[in-house]
Amino acid sequence: MDLIDKPLVELVQGLGRKEYSSEELTQAYLDAIAARDGEIGAYLLVCQDALEAARDWDAKRAGGGPLPPLAGIPVALKDNICTKGITTTCASRILENFTPPYDAHVVEKLRAAGCILLGKLNMDEFAMGSSTENSAFKITRNPRATDRVPGGSSGGSAAAVAAREAPFALGSDTGGSIRQPAAFCGVVGMKPTYGCVSRYGLVAFASSLDQIGPLTKTVEDNALVLNLIAGHDSRDATSIDSPAEDYAALVREKIPVGSRTPVGSRTPAGSRTPVGDGVKGLRIGLAREFFAQGITPDVRDAVLAAVKKYEKLGAKIVELSMPNIANALPAYYVISSAEASSNLARFDGVRYGYRAKAAGLTQGRFDDIEDFYKKTRSEGFGPEVKRRIMLGTFVLSAGYYDAYYKKAQQVRAIIRGEFDKAFEECDTLVSPVAPTVAYKIGEKSANPLEMYMGDVYSVPVNIAGLPALSLPCGKGADGLPVGMQLIGPPFSETRLYQLGAAFERETGGCL
Ligand code: GLN
Repeated sequence: MDLIDKPLVELVQGLGRKEYSSEELTQAYLDAIAARDGEIGAYLLVCQDALEAARDWDAKRAGGGPLPPLAGIPVALKDNICTKGITTTCASRILENFTPPYDAHVVEKLRAAGCILLGKLNMDEFAMGSSTENSAFKITRNPRATDRVPGGSSGGSAAAVAAREAPFALGSDTGGSIRQPAAFCGVVGMKPTYGCVSRYGLVAFASSLDQIGPLTKTVEDNALVLNLIAGHDSRDATSIDSPAEDYAALVREKIPVGSRTPVGSRTPAGSRTPVGDGVKGLRIGLAREFFAQGITPDVRDAVLAAVKKYEKLGAKIVELSMPNIANALPAYYVISSAEASSNLARFDGVRYGYRAKAAGLTQGRFDDIEDFYKKTRSEGFGPEVKRRIMLGTFVLSAGYYDAYYKKAQQVRAIIRGEFDKAFEECDTLVSPVAPTVAYKIGEKSANPLEMYMGDVYSVPVNIAGLPALSLPCGKGADGLPVGMQLIGPPFSETRLYQLGAAFERETGGCL
């Protein structure tokens, strides 16, 4: 197996045993980027100093002494995660030259763990989209079939991992943007419980829904990364100050990642979810509404075949109904657009980002401040972002607020209630991530509504703030990967990882 094909957990072990250096590893990824990214288009920026950082870690390793858990491991990040001194564009013209003066919380964590930044990854502009075709800069191709989209909005993150152009990546998920690209590209993606990972330094799309999470080759890798980036951060008011789950329990026997129980944690060690395969006796819920709208037979069959495997491993299947699941989609598009219209008001050309040129106007000046804002924002934002801002402004406006925004919030409460009820009857819900496999580039970009429909099974999870793991479960039409989604109650990530790892063991996983 080539170095770049190895799972992260093995790479950490290999570096620890000095089987190869961080410089060799980093070079191998840079070579893969040079060889393939012209076609794939996952990267918006490749960090020129990655090799130098790798050599520094090699020198530290040679010197003995304790090293952080991921010392010398490269990582790539979705370009809406702020990186100090490195442009962070959100794949938008309006932030084309924006260089943040600070690192996001997750970047601080990864740097402290010894990671080396390889580069920044393509995405739908401001994370609005499901195919990465809304990037202002370029499209990204699905490494499993280059005439297909990689999914979105974290399409660059999923494609980079699938194309072996990064050992792992971070993405963000507001309505499916980690899970759906993971499903389309055949990699593993986790959308953690809302509040589990700090959003400090994540450029906001819809603050009540956004979460950062890992995209990896394997479930174990994913658990390892979440362990590093999760935890309380006072700079994000919605970050949960609660007992830290030990997600890396799965991999602890393989690598010394240390316990992530923070100082002052209220979790007694004994109360953690035990490691084991976790499947025997587990109640898996199948809600029929998750196998309805728009689903193609190949996706349905692959997910149901995976459920059969769990049954064989000792799980009990519980059939349920969650009648309001289909209403999550309209509620999501109202709520997320409303929040986006407010969050994106800050891009006004005054403090940072793109500013329209006044050239050609009367005496080279703007008519007034309105004119200045209007030109800057008209030129700086792409069509999908404008559509969301207009929709969001409309649903928040006096006279329509009650009919749309308030109604959507009521639907949100109902959906949360339906999940609560479902989790009385089952431990974990299994569903498809998306109704179809990856579609052709250009196939849906002319019809936004059709594109939105593809989010029908991923948005309910964000609406309810739940964790969900997306993992490859089989092949669908044209041999393309199908992703299944394991959804659990808040803070059940460890169980989702156990279940995912059991499935990988049974099937060999996506490697
Ligand atoms: N596809 C969804 C949207 O366009 C979700 C995006 C996301 O999760 N960032 O809003």
